[in-house]
Parts: sequence; C-alpha cells; structure tokens
Amino acid sequence: MLARHPQGAPQESDFEVRDVPDRAPGDGEVSVRNVFVSVDPYMRGRMSGRRTYVDPYTLGEPIAGGAVGRVVESRYDALAEGDWVLSMLGWREQGLARGDSLHKLDPSLAPPSTALGVLGMPGLTAWFGLVEIGEVKAGETIYVSGAAGAVGSTAAQIAKLKELHVVGSAGSAEKVEWLRSLGIEAFDYRETPAKEALADGIDVYFDNVGGEQLEAALTALRPYGRVIACGAISRYNDERPSPGPRNLGFMVTKRLRLQGYIIADHWDRYPAFLAEVGPWVAGGKIAYRETILDGIENAPVAFAGLFRGDNTGKMLVRVG
Ligand code: NDP
Repeated sequence: MLARHPQGAPQESDFEVRDVPDRAPGDGEVSVRNVFVSVDPYMRGRMSGRRTYVDPYTLGEPIAGGAVGRVVESRYDALAEGDWVLSMLGWREQGLARGDSLHKLDPSLAPPSTALGVLGMPGLTAWFGLVEIGEVKAGETIYVSGAAGAVGSTAAQIAKLKELHVVGSAGSAEKVEWLRSLGIEAFDYRETPAKEALADGIDVYFDNVGGEQLEAALTALRPYGRVIACGAISRYNDERPSPGPRNLGFMVTKRLRLQGYIIADHWDRYPAFLAEVGPWVAGGKIAYRETILDGIENAPVAFAGLFRGDNTGKMLVRVG
C-alpha cells in the first residue's frame, strides 16, 4: 500500500505491506491469485497525489496496476479455476475482480508474464509509437533511449525489423552488450554523451527518457525529423518542473514534429499489434528479457529499481 507520497526518488519506506482478508467472490466476480505483478514508471506520477492523465493513488490503498495470475474461484461463466488472466489487480498476492474486467490468457501461445511486457502494454507502446506516431520508414535512422528497458528494447527491435538503422542508449556495459548482440548500435549514456554518439544525425527519436537525451536528439535530428514522445523517466522524480530543452528553436528551423501519446487511449490497436509482433516474438525475431524479484514485499524495491536502472527488459515481481 502507498503509505506516503514519495519525495524525489521512491523509497521502500513510502510503502507498507498489510494482510487484508479477502471475501468470497459474489455473482460475476472472480478470485485471482497473482503470479506476476508489474511495476511501471507511470506509477510514479500516480503516487504524487496530484491528478495527471489518470487518477492518483490514495494513501492506504493498494497500488493498482497490471498483473497476471490464475483463477482460484469463479462466479463468472467465461472463467474457470486455473485459468490464466491479465488484470489490473496490481500489487497484491490475491484479489477479487469483476470477470468482465479480466482478459483470459492462453499459456500455450506465450508465457503468461509476456502479457505484462513484450506482448502487453509496453510492447503495444513500442509498436504504436513507431508506426502511428513516428510513421517510421525503412532506411531511416532512429535513436531509442532507454533501449534496454521493456518499451525501448521492443521498440529498437521492431525498428530493426522494419529496416531502420537503430542506435540505442542504456546505462551499463552489460545492457549495451545485450543490445549489440541484437544488432543494435548501442552506447552507454553514462560514459558517452548522447550528443557525441549521435553526431552523424538521426531522422527519428523514440524518447523514453527526456531531459539531456531529448536535448541531444533535437540537435541531432535532420530537417523534418520526428520525436516520438513516449516518456521522460529522467524527470519523474523531480520535485519542481525542470527547464525544457534549451534548443527548442530547432523545432522551427528544422521543421521538426514532436508528438506525445498515452497508450491507454489506443487499446483498439492491440489486435493489429499482436498480428504483427506476436509472430516475431514466437519466432525468436524479437528477443525479450525480464528482471524478476520475488515476494510482494519486494514490489517497492523493484519499482524504485526502475529509476536506478536495475532492470534489463521488463521489471516484474513474482508473488505466486
Ligand atoms: P523500463 O523498462 O525502460 O525501465 C526504466 C529504465 O529507465 C531503467 O531501466 C533505466 O535504464 C532508465 N532510466 C531510469 N532513470 C534514468 C535517467 N535518469 N536517465 C536515463 N535513463 C534512465 O521502463 P518502461 O519500458 O516500462 O518505460 C519506458 C518509458 O516509457 C518510461 O518513460 C515510461 O514512462 C514510458 N511509457 C510510456 C507509455 C505511454 O503511454 N506513453 C506507456 C508505457 C511506458 P538505464 O540503465 O538505461 O538507465
């Protein structure tokens, strides 16, 4: 549960674990035992106590969010004991949900945890950003920041499959090595300033990070370049809004386009995403990694780890 609003980087002491008894499911309800719980950067905004594009979390309430688990008891016709489901039950071991709010998963098609990562919200975010927001084309050069994370690693690989030249950045030598093993030109932004690494120019920037990376990308973008404004994790813990990129003037002189999006508005595109990306994942053309911590008490540790770069690929908590 959220015990207090984090100030700056989230701390374990901002959260509390409580034992709360569950009642039996009523008509149309399902009791679900979570197996994997998702921690996501957007949750930081919901913890701030301020309304953004989504309601803030309430102090003393569990953290709602993506989770996959198995049905333990069902009073909803379309689901039976043992079924795997995707829910928004969030950080808890077990919970009740309305049956019609659950999405049944087929574990023979893909490991259920992928519904929270490469084949779930982060994967859709990567694909939608490239195809619909960035309108990327073969032969272009794209820069992806946060390239070893859940969204970034998927975006970088989809861009490569769409025959773009892909440059990615990440925060450690191991992450850079993984990206290079996937055929992505990668650099460690802690060692090499992005401005230097992008000196040859880019056509599109997939922004997961904001701040300095965005400023470097605006300098590197060629005329008519696009910025896919997906996220700005380097700024989420700021107590005060930080100044914007100093070189926004390039938006005009280079005729750039910067467009943000919130993937929750675009779930109608999920079938199209799955039709294109599902076979790539199943056929091994898109690799994915997961960083998994065990135990619900480690959800705050996993969450805080997103801001330290503790994860490669999707950060998950295994609770069952
Ligand atoms: P990731 O799996 O990418 O995890 C976060 C990563 O961010 C860390 O591993 C770390 O990697 C990097 N990071 C943390 N702090 C900094 C910093 N100060 N500077 C540079 N990199 C940093 O998370 P997701 O894939 O879930 O999310 C990636 C981005 O996409 C986020 O900005 C998120 O808010 C956004 N997003 C947007 C959505 C939308 O609808 N628009 C939907 C989903 C996600 P490293 O070691 O490389 O530093």
